[in-house]
Amino acid sequence: MDAEIIAVGSELLTPERLDTNSLWLTAQLNALGIEVVTKMVIGDDRERLAQAVRTVLARSPLLLVTGGLGPTEDDVTREAVAEALGRELVFHPEILAAIEERFRRAGRVMAEINRRQAFLIEGAEALPNPVGTAPGQWIRLDDRAVVLLPGPPGELKPMFTDHVLPRLRAIAPPLVIRTRTYRVAGIAESDLDQRISPVYKRYANLSTTVLAAPGDIQVHLRARCQDEREAEALLQEVGHQIEAILGDRIYSPGEPLEVLVGNLLRQRRATLAVAESCTGGLLAERITSVPGSSDYFLGGFLVYSNQAKRDLAGVPASLLEEHGPVSEPVARALAEGTRARTGASYALAVTGIAGPGGGTEATPVGTAYLAVAGPEGTSARRFRFLGDRERVRAFAAQTALDMLRRRILGLPEIPGLAPS
Ligand code: ATP
Repeated sequence: MDAEIIAVGSELLTPERLDTNSLWLTAQLNALGIEVVTKMVIGDDRERLAQAVRTVLARSPLLLVTGGLGPTEDDVTREAVAEALGRELVFHPEILAAIEERFRRAGRVMAEINRRQAFLIEGAEALPNPVGTAPGQWIRLDDRAVVLLPGPPGELKPMFTDHVLPRLRAIAPPLVIRTRTYRVAGIAESDLDQRISPVYKRYANLSTTVLAAPGDIQVHLRARCQDEREAEALLQEVGHQIEAILGDRIYSPGEPLEVLVGNLLRQRRATLAVAESCTGGLLAERITSVPGSSDYFLGGFLVYSNQAKRDLAGVPASLLEEHGPVSEPVARALAEGTRARTGASYALAVTGIAGPGGGTEATPVGTAYLAVAGPEGTSARRFRFLGDRERVRAFAAQTALDMLRRRILGLPEIPGLAPS
């Protein structure tokens, strides 16, 4: 079954307020096997909302509307949905009595405008709201359903769980959604998609999303099946083929690279230090964002200037003069010097040109040399990362972590670019 969600509220169209209700609702619906196919945010505008409700009901069997059930003039959901359905609003004295009672218990007198909340759309069932005043509404239209829920998340959630979920279970065809994630490094997004799309496109009840961040791609598989076993089997079948195609470029089923590398280091009782030039601490920041990273991370050097490269990491002045700071010999010397000075098992070094200025024909913006020094020796590679300063730096940090992962696991190095 497909569903659509409309979040109502002019404040949700401002930069100050985010529609989080639909995220929460989507997770709940997905767990029932219901797919959310469209979401909308509409201001407190009766005509626009009525129009949207008509459009949705012409194409989808389930519509959830959140917000706009309050007592004031700008709470237009009841009126708009009634208009769209061509139904009357009916006054329910027992709902009014419950609202009045709620005010009485709080030692207050109900304002006259709260009467508006005692109206239900003709044929609707009231969904009790023990936390607030406005009841929700459940409306069945032959094979479709419309649900009206209050906007405040603290009211919406219990109402959905207690009163909507059981009703949806009764009408939704039994479907389960199961997901699987792969995190991938060392391949471009377009290249990855080209390789795996022939696999995932063959399956109708599987949807695949590729989320890309610099140097870090997540492949999400979602299987929609009759039962859990079928869904797991589908994920297994497709996952197996994707694993075969991407091989050791898949680094984890969900955890970020800094967590994975941290675990590898901890398991081996190995330690790590870093020397960072163009990433300016980004690498250390990622490593230390993981709780418990003090088990394996010793620290490092921020070697932005040539002098810092010499003084902190012991890079010979002659190397800097002969090859320049963005070069393979300097990356190598940074990693080796950092390893020697900190006593770490492994040292990572990054030196590059993040841009936008500073590039030359031989060493254009985006060029970075990454090196890893360890008990097995030192390797350094040249890379060319594309994008703005932020992307180049993010790519460099991610790729450095991936070089370390590969080194620790004894995997072949990712192809960089031949040193020029
Ligand atoms: P009530 O009158 O009982 O407060 P309501 O249904 O009229 O309920 P709104 O007035 O639309 O709800 O919203 C009340 C508050 O709920 C908003 O100020 C906002 O903080 C929160 N809210 C509304 N919609 C959303 C949403 N989609 N996601 C997150 N928060 C929301």
